[in-house]
Amino acid sequence: MKYRTNSKTGESVSLLGFGAMRLPLNADGSIDEAEAVRMIRYAIDNGVNYVDTAYPYHNGKSEPLVGKALKDGYREKVILATKLPVWAIKKREDRYTLLETQLKRLDVPSVDNYLVHDINEGSYNAVKKFDVMDFMREMKAADKIKNIGFSYHGSTVEFFKELIDLFDWDFVQIQLNYMDAEYQAGVAGMKYAAAKGIPVVIMEPLRGGKLVNVIPDTIRAYWDRASVKRTPAEWALAWVANFPEVLTILSGMSAMEQVEDNLRILSAAEQDGLTAEELAIIEQVADEYNKRIPYGCTACRYCLPCPAKIEIPAVIEIRNEVDMYGSKANMKFAYDNFLDPKPTVCTACKQCEEICPQHLNVSGIMAETAGMFA
Ligand code: SF4
Ligand code: SF4
Repeated sequence: MKYRTNSKTGESVSLLGFGAMRLPLNADGSIDEAEAVRMIRYAIDNGVNYVDTAYPYHNGKSEPLVGKALKDGYREKVILATKLPVWAIKKREDRYTLLETQLKRLDVPSVDNYLVHDINEGSYNAVKKFDVMDFMREMKAADKIKNIGFSYHGSTVEFFKELIDLFDWDFVQIQLNYMDAEYQAGVAGMKYAAAKGIPVVIMEPLRGGKLVNVIPDTIRAYWDRASVKRTPAEWALAWVANFPEVLTILSGMSAMEQVEDNLRILSAAEQDGLTAEELAIIEQVADEYNKRIPYGCTACRYCLPCPAKIEIPAVIEIRNEVDMYGSKANMKFAYDNFLDPKPTVCTACKQCEEICPQHLNVSGIMAETAGMFA
């Protein structure tokens, strides 16, 4: 395993971190606990020393599972990270109750890394309203948490930079993969944070598995043309690991083969290890994926609110990614879990279409997407 040094704490952190949000499941949808524990411990036995979970993962079952996996001396071997669900704070006391619940679930007296979960332009209002940063400082002083960070899902790099400048963060967590180089914080945000001495933890290096689960033929053709042979996972992880600003790369592993594969890949990945030719191939692949987008929604949100309360750009994003990544199965989880209401409630009033600067046939796309997942 490769390790990188946390510039703030001096800790040596494994380049691969275990993300506990896509643990192996039983047929009934519950976590396959024996296998999940085996995978986490196998990763730690093979050099992983960063484990990341969160309050909502697996409907609250990830934290207790991680707690179990870290028994028998494993807790001492890792940097344990979990996140404060800001959206669940309805009154100030909730901040304390939530952390206490999390420590109880994990069965530990404290965690190393505690993140404000999912800061975006909307959720930041709750951070201000409930003095979340005062709470974080208080918990750090009380030794309940060691390092304070946030995970970012805002829409612009500018807002990310504002947040970086707002507080003396110990670390930050962003989504980054070769398809998201300019999405949310992106490469520019990562470099900004790193230049300020803030270590950057990466999530979604494989874009939730979309860059590896199903490879469309046109994409495979690019990989096949490369003089260096790598699997799609190797290309994707090598791209992230190439940045010296990256501290650790979280992968949400669902099967032991993925653990073994990621251990192998990130034991070999070098910072600044990719050649200009290899980086050009990755860029061509990203361009090819983008060419596959059927509907040019810019997520400007001018069409909202929809009278039927449909989150129109989110529906179109799911529809687009079916074609981009060549698989409906890839997007079923997002359709089932992240859309409420579903596009089935569209009344075809066409109010959105009158406003849409891209002149999209939104009602048609709603019907098409609903039909795909019916
Ligand atoms: S056409 Fe459908 S998506 Fe558009 S505003 Fe009307 S109900 Fe909402
Ligand atoms: S107005 Fe059009 S381009 Fe903008 S978010 Fe809505 S559907 Fe997308």
